[in-house]
Amino acid sequence: MSKTLFAIFGNPVSHSKSPLMHNLAFEKLGFDGCYARYLLEDGSRLKETFFDLKLKGVNVTVPHKEDAYEACDVLDPFAQKVGAVNTIVEKEGKLYGYNTDAPGFLKAISEFDAVKTVLFLGAGGTAKSTAILLKEAGYDVAILNRSGGRLTYFQEHGFQTYTFDDFVPRAYDLIINMTSAGLEDDALPCPSDILEKVIPSAKACVDVIYGKETPFLKLARTYQKPTKDGSDMLLYQGIIAFEYFTGHAYTFNAIKQHMQKALIL
Ligand code: NDP
Repeated sequence: MSKTLFAIFGNPVSHSKSPLMHNLAFEKLGFDGCYARYLLEDGSRLKETFFDLKLKGVNVTVPHKEDAYEACDVLDPFAQKVGAVNTIVEKEGKLYGYNTDAPGFLKAISEFDAVKTVLFLGAGGTAKSTAILLKEAGYDVAILNRSGGRLTYFQEHGFQTYTFDDFVPRAYDLIINMTSAGLEDDALPCPSDILEKVIPSAKACVDVIYGKETPFLKLARTYQKPTKDGSDMLLYQGIIAFEYFTGHAYTFNAIKQHMQKALIL
């Protein structure tokens, strides 16, 4: 029998660690699967491409998470609520869509004790899904973004929102960079005078970017704050996706034991 096929769809996709993460776990757990990367240029062709390639499941990354949402026949209630899908599984010809980014992020920050108030820097797709889940989990989340346009969604969902111009500093337990500032440049996610007002009273600072220390985390370290990059988020979203891909045949910890090795290779 041929292997069960999976892939990641994105543009760009060459940097993705997902193939390594999933293939390592398939091999070590004895699941007869193979996971590839696919440069998907046109998001509207996602469904057609999925079936042409005879895939069983995909992860979807930038910029196609909203197209993935549109392509699914059945949506998990959380994916439905946030309008973004990063994991698709085919069952009897239908595409089932899930969002594992936000639960992965929630798990990644659960190591910080006694955290109640959170400031998000950024208001993109990742901020949307994680803000909703953190709110449901009892966190008090405020959103600060460079421009006002993306804040409407958050206002409609009852979040306190600010732009750089109208920000009113207060004490936040966690400051989280949800932007791509620092990914391929040396930019901070917001002006340094704002960060200098909120970092000193924070318990920790977190970045969703992984694999490098961003200017934001470097600044946080000058205040002796505990920091965390996006590696655990990446790992945990991958483990939860793997659970869907394999029909929950393996425990979270069994998958983690193997998948996490991909992040140090
Ligand atoms: P989006 O493109 O949806 O949103 C980008 C956000 O960043 C917007 O709020 C934008 O502000 C802001 N932004 C971009 N550049 C700057 C800058 N130079 N200064 C200030 N603000 C800026 O991105 P995503 O939500 O999809 O992704 C955000 C980050 O999360 C990326 O770095 C991505 O790599 C990372 N990520 C990490 C994951 C992990 O597993 N660790 C999983 C998913 C994402 P504006 O509205 O003003 O344009």
